[in-house]
Amino acid sequence: MDIKKEVIELIGDPSLVEEINFEVSNIIIYTKNRNFFLNSSELIKSMVAKEKKRIEVRLDPSLLMDEKDAEKEINKLVSKEADLKESWFDRERSIVSLEAVRPEIITANNKKIINGIREKTGWSVILSRYPLIKSDIVRAIREMLYANSKFRRKLLNSIGEKIYNSKFEVNEKYWVRLSALGGFRHVGRSSMLVQTPLSTIMLDAGVDVANTKEPVPRIDAPEFDVSKLDAVVITHSHLDHCGFLPALYKYGYRGPVYSTLPTRDVMTLLHLDYISLGNRTNSKMLFDVADIKEMLKYSIPLAYHEVTDIAPDIRVTLHNAGHILGSAMIHLNIGDGFYNLLYTGDFKYANSKTLNRADNLFDRVEALIMESTYGGDQNREPSREEAEQFFLDIITKTTEKNGKVLVPVLGVGRAQELMLLIEEWERYGLMPDIPVIIDGMLWDVTAIYTAYPEFMNTETRRRIIEHNNNPFMSPNFKHIVSEEERKQILSGGPAVILATSGMLNGGPAVSYFANLCEEERNSVVLVSYQGPGTLGRNIKNGAREVDMELNGKIRHFNINALVYSIEGFSGHSDRTQLERYVNDIKPRPKKIILDHGEESKIIELANFIRRRYRIETLAPHILDAIRLK
Ligand SMILES: [Zn+2]
Repeated sequence: MDIKKEVIELIGDPSLVEEINFEVSNIIIYTKNRNFFLNSSELIKSMVAKEKKRIEVRLDPSLLMDEKDAEKEINKLVSKEADLKESWFDRERSIVSLEAVRPEIITANNKKIINGIREKTGWSVILSRYPLIKSDIVRAIREMLYANSKFRRKLLNSIGEKIYNSKFEVNEKYWVRLSALGGFRHVGRSSMLVQTPLSTIMLDAGVDVANTKEPVPRIDAPEFDVSKLDAVVITHSHLDHCGFLPALYKYGYRGPVYSTLPTRDVMTLLHLDYISLGNRTNSKMLFDVADIKEMLKYSIPLAYHEVTDIAPDIRVTLHNAGHILGSAMIHLNIGDGFYNLLYTGDFKYANSKTLNRADNLFDRVEALIMESTYGGDQNREPSREEAEQFFLDIITKTTEKNGKVLVPVLGVGRAQELMLLIEEWERYGLMPDIPVIIDGMLWDVTAIYTAYPEFMNTETRRRIIEHNNNPFMSPNFKHIVSEEERKQILSGGPAVILATSGMLNGGPAVSYFANLCEEERNSVVLVSYQGPGTLGRNIKNGAREVDMELNGKIRHFNINALVYSIEGFSGHSDRTQLERYVNDIKPRPKKIILDHGEESKIIELANFIRRRYRIETLAPHILDAIRLK
């Protein structure tokens, strides 16, 4: 039966229902009956239990209190301590989004405030956190989504209609198929298709930033047709997983993209940065700002563990991946339990300063698609403690020599992890009293980190939320943006400089490197994966002379600075952690498919898993397709 009719039948009185709308697979009931709006929670609870869907009752927009008056009422009800900064009213959906420095104050006390606002104003409340470091990007995204609320309401409903109104049957003709479009036997441009007779879902849409010849996924594969793509799900905001996404909209894709909130915000920032870098070098761009905006209009945030239908026969759940803020493992339940697949994306199976280790417990998993960046037999990391001590020693010794420490980092992930580490050393008096430079875009990403502490590890989250003490706000962190400021840093005393990019193939890190590498007293510390052919990989492998562009001219440099590589800070699981993950994941998968690793490493890891666990382990090539069932 039609689900909307079913809901009306369960309510028992059709006159209570003005309209039923879908928000993806959630069911929203709009009513003109205030009593029903305020007192239907028990009925809704029983309906949720029966339908296994989220159901919410909202007051019909025509009965909502005027925005100005509602704002006054809200300000009366919300205590000063919560520090409410903004209220965004979305009349189309009868919801007001409250942005506060401490939203937990509003949710405390058994939702008394939220219910009070419903009662007084008719508006349903959602909460978000006002970032402690001002973030233009977070604000611009939130503004844009509200400006498009009419469109969004229609979009969310039409996705729901499609999910609920297509019938499917799992019979002997039903199948599940995986196609490798990028990032197999390779690191970069991660992307794959999962297909059933009814649906086509893309998991990740990355670019290979270190490869200008073949930077994008193989969308020339016969099974890819942009007009038949039903949904895209993104694991995390690194460009090798999401850098191709706006280009899909350029090619005409007009469907939803699912990710966590931090992933949505950070990836937008990285997309904009990617364009601005491209424009400077005049290279042909994959997409422009209009495509990024289009992508945002179709973005749908999901929380960890929130189960959502994204196609008539596919249900998605995101799980913590422990890699960077908001990074997710994608679990797909296909064909109503017919087949379950887990794609790890990049993941860390160990706790870090910023994040909890990746989830390993699931209801069902038949196939595991696992990253293998550090899957080689030799890829055993030193312990985290050793890595930290080594890094602190480098900083201390370099400071004593009056030198500077350059740490090239990816914009998101390691930078914030190292910031928390340095802040801890400062608190314990271990860190030399020198400035810590956070260059350019890293600061904007850190601002987004301050908007989403609920995605961080237990201890850091508690410190921020319960104790109102945000480690990213340490006064020793110096944010700099201009060339003038960079010159001052270079001519000044000792400093730790965190700058992008992590492989020294672009970004301000390159010009810092050019300015610092010839002097013996300085140090360069590599903490990220270094792709073949990049400057980072060359100096990691011991190159002592390089040719580089500085101020538009190619120059020859002798590298006299000390170059270190510390593996212990990686956001990826090392070989030991990958093995442990295969051992610990529950239930044990029947099939393991390895991706996101150089060929030799993938083969070594596949051999190990087959031998040790006797699980069928595949290492597909790009353009391979595998029938999963
Ligand atoms: Zn990553």
